[in-house]
Order: sequence, then C-alpha cells, then structure tokens
Amino acid sequence: MLVSPQRTNRPWQGEISKLTDEVRPSYEPDCYLCPGNKRANGDTNPVYKKTYVFTNDFSALFENVPDVKKGENNLLLMMAEKGICRVVNFTPRHDLTLAEMQEKEILNVIDTWQTEYRSLCSHPGINYVQIFENKGSLMGNSNPHPHGQIWAQESIPTEPLKEMRQFKSFYNKRKRSLLAEYLELEQRLKERIVFENGSFIIVVPFWAIWPFETMIISKRRISSILELKKTEKQDYANALSVITKKYDNIFKTSFPYSAGLHQAPTDGEKHKEWHFHMHFYPPLLRSANIKKFMVGYEMLAEPQRDITPEYCAKILRELPVVHYKKTQTKA
Ligand SMILES: [Zn+2]
Ligand SMILES: [Zn+2]
Repeated sequence: MLVSPQRTNRPWQGEISKLTDEVRPSYEPDCYLCPGNKRANGDTNPVYKKTYVFTNDFSALFENVPDVKKGENNLLLMMAEKGICRVVNFTPRHDLTLAEMQEKEILNVIDTWQTEYRSLCSHPGINYVQIFENKGSLMGNSNPHPHGQIWAQESIPTEPLKEMRQFKSFYNKRKRSLLAEYLELEQRLKERIVFENGSFIIVVPFWAIWPFETMIISKRRISSILELKKTEKQDYANALSVITKKYDNIFKTSFPYSAGLHQAPTDGEKHKEWHFHMHFYPPLLRSANIKKFMVGYEMLAEPQRDITPEYCAKILRELPVVHYKKTQTKA
C-alpha cells in the first residue's frame, strides 16, 4: 500500500453536500420491504414491528443444487456452491438508517443477526455465514429501506479465508489473537482510534485502503456474535450507533458504505484464532459527491491513498456523536 499525503495539497475542508438530503416518508407504498407490502415474488410482508427476516426472492445461492465438480487441465475448476440468502429489514420505518435508529432498535438488529447466525450454523453444509449491509445507491443498493443481507454458504469465501490463515499462523506462533495484539498497539499509540467503550474499539486500521475505512473490534477475543454478553451487546449497539452517526456527520449526508461482520467459519472447528470484528468500507473521499475510485495504479499495482489513516481517524474522533439532523435548526 502506498500513502501519498503530499497529494493533499489543500487543508481539509470537510465540504458539506450541496445536495439537500432526500426526505423519505416513514412508509412508502411502493417499497417491497415496508411492512404489509407485496414483494416481487408475490409474497406479502407481515406488518412487522421490529426487524423482519425473509429468504431473498432473488437469491444468489440456493440450498438444493446438484453436486457438480468439473475441471479443465487442472487449471480451471468449477464447483456447485450450496447456500442460503436472507434479507434483514432493520426496522419497519422506511425513512431511517442505523445512524438515525435508537440504540435499543439497533439492539433488535443485533438480536436478529444472532438468531440467524445460530440457525444458519446448524444447517448441514453451511460452513460460513456472511452478514453485511450495502448502504446507499452509490454502493449499488437499489432500495433505500434500511436493510442488510446474510449469505450463508458451503465454502469459506476468499476474504475471511485469507484472514483465517493469518489469524491461525499468528495464533500457532504466539498462542494469542492477532487482533488482540493489534488492539494493544493501537491503544498505546492512540493515533488511529476513533472511539472506545467498555467492550469495543473503533479504529481506522493501519492498512486502511478506503479514506474513512474503519473496523469495530471486540476487546475480548470472541469467535462470533453468539458469545456476546449482555453488556457487550449493548456496547456493540452503541459502537454501531456512534460510527454511523459520525459517518453521516462528515459531509452532513446519509453516508454510503459496505459493512460486514467477520465471524468464525461455522464448519464445526473451534476457531480459537478467530477474533470477532466488523469492517466498514465507505467510498466517499472529499465531499458527498466525490468518490474514491480504485483504478489505474490501484488495479495494476497496489492500493494508494492521499489522506493518511491517522488524519481520517482524527476527523472521525472529533466529529460529534449526535446526528446532524438533530442539531439542525428548522428554517
Ligand atoms: Zn420501505
Ligand atoms: Zn475481517
């Protein structure tokens, strides 16, 4: 990774979006995720009050697929992949996002993630569960209703597999978690920490590629969301609330990102090396309209960034935890 802070030849201006925030109604008759509405496949959503989960009508993965394995000259390998895709509506309210939900409502989302992770783990042939959210049309999200997805599948996908290998090799050498050691280092240096509560630390990781990339890491090494104690769950809801509010406050806009939990594979192994964490990958760079593109040098050589992770951590750290819409005086 290449960091070129000299390219930032002007001071941070924190340019505020000239776009007026789109005002959404709390219920939208045409939204296929709103309570009581009809979905594309003809099913009707119940009039749900908290969170609501259903199997994706346009799943990328299916549970019943024939076992196929084909290869060409040991060079090209093709295998059938079994899986289940779910959609999690965070709240019945069409007009909210995690940033504007109350902590107790975010707690409902965490409860749902726990229930789904537990039930998907117990499905035969499900060895990995990916919980994630794509927020904003800039991230290709077609429906503004606050929701996330869960993809559960047979094989461990590339990103968590790479992490697992690193976690394992570190654990085998040092008999402790790589992220626990990394957190100690960040707590000593304090330059990349954005926020901290009793159970979680939010950090702009040393290796961050996206301008405002962050990680939420549990202070206690746990393998998955299932091991969270009651206070840790509350602290997790608090951390989610804080980071999403700070994000919205950067450009005073609903801040787009892809975010997801990285939890131990559900392959029946113990995974003592695994350390629960969550990634946020936001694409915005200098304003609500300027997106960082991973092109040219980044595609061909390695990731490059102009604003240092330490500077972004400072910006995020200093931003208020009260959502900007709550502080705006009505004209
Ligand atoms: Zn809706
Ligand atoms: Zn990860």
